[in-house]
Amino acid sequence: MKIRVGHLYPEYLNIYADRGNIAVLARRAALRGHELAVESIGLGDELEPGGHDLLYIGGGQDREQALIAPDLTSKDEPIREAVARGVAVLAVCGGYQLLGRGYRGRDGSLMPGACLFPHETRAGETRMIGDVLLECELEPGAPHPLAGFENHAGRTLLDPGAEPLGQVVFGFGNDGESGFEGCRVGRAIGTYLHGPLLPRNPWLADWLLSQALAHASGGDPPELDPLPDELEAEAYRVAAGRARARGGRR
Ligand code: GLN
Repeated sequence: MKIRVGHLYPEYLNIYADRGNIAVLARRAALRGHELAVESIGLGDELEPGGHDLLYIGGGQDREQALIAPDLTSKDEPIREAVARGVAVLAVCGGYQLLGRGYRGRDGSLMPGACLFPHETRAGETRMIGDVLLECELEPGAPHPLAGFENHAGRTLLDPGAEPLGQVVFGFGNDGESGFEGCRVGRAIGTYLHGPLLPRNPWLADWLLSQALAHASGGDPPELDPLPDELEAEAYRVAAGRARARGGRR
């Protein structure tokens, strides 16, 4: 099956090799006989709500975020409509911030957001940097750990009742205080975790592919054939070990 991916602002938001997430999705789809068709969506490009099965947006410095924020908000309705129709989303760090109500940067300027996620972000005086370990439960009764790397000045405050991506085991997470990291709305997830995230967390890559395939087929998310993920498991162990060594929440 063809999985249509809309990659938002790849020239601007690709910090810490976040583009590697697309490479992982393409490879894991191909190993199951599917094709990932990736379309770049840049400044001034139309975004058709029904045009994609998965949308992806990476991270960036405040400067790049400010360059694309007005254009992103001009796409806010088709993005929200796409998610309401069951399109999957992966948003990382700067992209995650701008899919909320907005991000007030270090210089005090407010970058408007696409209002998909129920949160808002304000830059703090210090940066939250280091390896992170989370506990996630995207499907009831199927908990998974998630390991990655964070580097952000933004403190993201979830609205009451908003669903986080996971609980922080080690690291700062959304704001360094709530104990939560990321946000989820339907098949859309946002996170501060770079790395890139997906090579060391193959379960999440497969979860996203399964959600995107469900949107493409109009059916339920399929169970994907397991892959030989020894290298991915080792990458996770290294990242999780660094997060544990950092100490902190637990
Ligand atoms: N510029 C934003 C911040 O500092 C996002 C950084 C990022 O994408 N790594 O919080």
